[in-house]
Amino acid sequence: MSGAEEAGGGGPAAGPAGAVPAGVGVGVGVGAGAGAAAGPAAAAALGEAAGPGLPDEAGLAGARQLQLQEAAGDPDAPPKKRLRAAEAAEAAAAAAAAGSGKLEERLYSVLCCTVCLDLPKASVYQCTNGHLMCAGCFIHLLADARLKEEQATCPNCRCEISKSLCCRNLAVEKAVSELPSECGFCLRQFPRSLLERHQKEECQDRVTQCKYKRIGCPWHGPFHELTVHEAACAHPTKTGNELMEILDEMDQSHRKEMQLYNSIFSLLSFEKIGYTEVQFRPYRTDDFITRLYYETPRFTVLNQTWVLKARVNDSERNPNLSCKRTLSFQLLLKSKVTAPLECSFLLLKGPYDDVRISPVIYHFIFTNESNETDYVPLPIIDSVECNKLLAAKNINLRLFLFQIQK
Ligand SMILES: [Zn+2]
Ligand SMILES: [Zn+2]
Ligand SMILES: [Zn+2]
Ligand SMILES: [Zn+2]
Repeated sequence: MSGAEEAGGGGPAAGPAGAVPAGVGVGVGVGAGAGAAAGPAAAAALGEAAGPGLPDEAGLAGARQLQLQEAAGDPDAPPKKRLRAAEAAEAAAAAAAAGSGKLEERLYSVLCCTVCLDLPKASVYQCTNGHLMCAGCFIHLLADARLKEEQATCPNCRCEISKSLCCRNLAVEKAVSELPSECGFCLRQFPRSLLERHQKEECQDRVTQCKYKRIGCPWHGPFHELTVHEAACAHPTKTGNELMEILDEMDQSHRKEMQLYNSIFSLLSFEKIGYTEVQFRPYRTDDFITRLYYETPRFTVLNQTWVLKARVNDSERNPNLSCKRTLSFQLLLKSKVTAPLECSFLLLKGPYDDVRISPVIYHFIFTNESNETDYVPLPIIDSVECNKLLAAKNINLRLFLFQIQK
């Protein structure tokens, strides 16, 4: 990483977001920017959006057919293309008339995401020419474009896509919700509106846990085997001593979880605590092959000036080729200190971004000689969450700093 050394160092390294003069913007980059504004809808949708699935034959054929039909109806298409497209559409219509598939199946291929060819599970977006993309694919395309420093385009028609150019298609979302879909456990078809309840409460194949889980039974399996298991389960007949051992083990893993929360609570009673909203903005390194990195403007916490930097997949050469996406970050002290400054710090989701981070507390002793931490993982739940951040214009988080006084 040979990028801008200073906050908003500008120059050749300034990325698409543009440089910000060093020293201004005291970190309270309250995320009301466009990224944050556009964020929630896409973000909310993403929770459920599955990654691209495998294209199946029917879906592929359908997508092709859809494109052909569109081209046929497009008065702006060049005459030659229109002619060929018209012929193809006729052929497709003939095939449909010949009775290939039920209405549901035909609708499936019309309403599916043109990228993953799956039926969208949540929000549906469309390019300015009307090509449909599920929220997962849409965010993935935007994130990939950010990594490659390209304008994101519709994979079908190559028109520009962005959160401001593309809108949701509620009619398609509603139509999809009327179509039957498959229960993930028993593989039977249900109307979407009933599916959630079926999977949660009614499906005989849904995964359940033994009611003696609380005293250590690890069994889980399909619901229809539950009664047989529970009747034969050895846990309720264990002696008190045996159970004590099991419970001790369970307590231990529980204690580890509690430790994190307890240390956060004890940090909260420190004398010197500071926090601020930080806004990571995308830049490119000035290497031969430029790489994406993020940097915040300088900000002041605990009377010191700081900068945060972040990088994708620890600056691996081609993060866009990898499905697994991670972010790591480092904290840099920019002001001079008269004595070593020992701190704990913690990055959490900001008030305006909807990203899931599991909190991790890091420690570092800052001195004038050693004024930057190593890159440490930003504990984002998964790659989908990470893509969500990459697709946004900026990344808005909240930084907590606790000064440890001896
Ligand atoms: Zn998709
Ligand atoms: Zn398009
Ligand atoms: Zn089922
Ligand atoms: Zn059991």
